[in-house]
Amino acid sequence: MLAGDGFEGRETGTEGEKAAGEFIAAVLRGRNIEPVLQEFPGHGAKGTNVLGVLRGASAEAVVVGAHYDHLGRKGEKIWSGADDNASGVAVLLELARRLSYRRPRRTIVFASFSGEEAGLFGSKHYVKNPLVPLEQTVAMVNLDMVGRLREKLLVFGTGTGDQFRAFLEDSPLALAFPNDPFGPSDHTSFILKGVPSVHLFTGSHADYHKPTDTPEKIDYEGMLRIADLVETLVRRIADAPRRMQYVKVETAVPAEGAAPGARPYFGSMPDYGFEGKGCRLEGVAPGSPADQAGLKAGDVVVAIGGQDVPEVNAYSRALFSKKPGDEIEVTYLRGVERVTVKVTLAARKQTED
Ligand SMILES: [Zn+2]
Repeated sequence: MLAGDGFEGRETGTEGEKAAGEFIAAVLRGRNIEPVLQEFPGHGAKGTNVLGVLRGASAEAVVVGAHYDHLGRKGEKIWSGADDNASGVAVLLELARRLSYRRPRRTIVFASFSGEEAGLFGSKHYVKNPLVPLEQTVAMVNLDMVGRLREKLLVFGTGTGDQFRAFLEDSPLALAFPNDPFGPSDHTSFILKGVPSVHLFTGSHADYHKPTDTPEKIDYEGMLRIADLVETLVRRIADAPRRMQYVKVETAVPAEGAAPGARPYFGSMPDYGFEGKGCRLEGVAPGSPADQAGLKAGDVVVAIGGQDVPEVNAYSRALFSKKPGDEIEVTYLRGVERVTVKVTLAARKQTED
């Protein structure tokens, strides 16, 4: 749907974004959910969140979110973003259909955020201007890249709420629970405001942020299984007699994102499913700074700039705290060998990770 060429890659502030937003609004109306359009200032261009509210019996609410913006187009090249994140929006709209037949105990807000790729602008705006006050928002469930299910569905952030693990206990899907909740997606905006939040993710891949993230690579059967899981999870959160309680997670809070043009490019593809200590690389882009420094798929990065990186999000934060042109020391394990190399970070283009 949203990955179609007519939406031109859905870049925030473009006609493609507008058309995609109107499409989502029309689908919500078809589910008898009146859409609310929420405009926000972005990076030069303004964007629009498309919100749908399914009124519950109580004053409390659950937010289900999926960003619908992506990287746009350059001439003939279109960044379709089928997995990132037409997949999440498709599951969100399917949930709106399934859940709209019955009035839940708590209100459910179906939030299609924009401005995510440029720095979580849409969700940051929402948490400042929520449809239901954040004190009464008991949880947020973020669907970002759920179109390529492999052995395990990754669920980040279960530690931020006291009931997530119990609600997921009888999951028919194999799940992994990586430790650090602060991933680079919209749930982070909510966690920073004290709202328990999880991020569902089928993992990164070589087509991430490339024009080759296309619909024929999507696992639709897997998406249906994820929709079943999220339906159960959201119903449980919405109908639980006792509301979810926030649990403060003891980990470094991410720095505010740097300006999009100023993000450094390293050229590695982290393995989000790796459960050991450090950040295992699933791949390295040919010719990238990581490649030139000799890093290879399978290496496990354990420190950047002398600081430990215990897992993948700490790794991303360590990289994004640097600027293009910075020279950093990267320490990694290859088998039993421990190697430290110096790497000069390049400038990050939107077309690269
Ligand atoms: Zn995304």
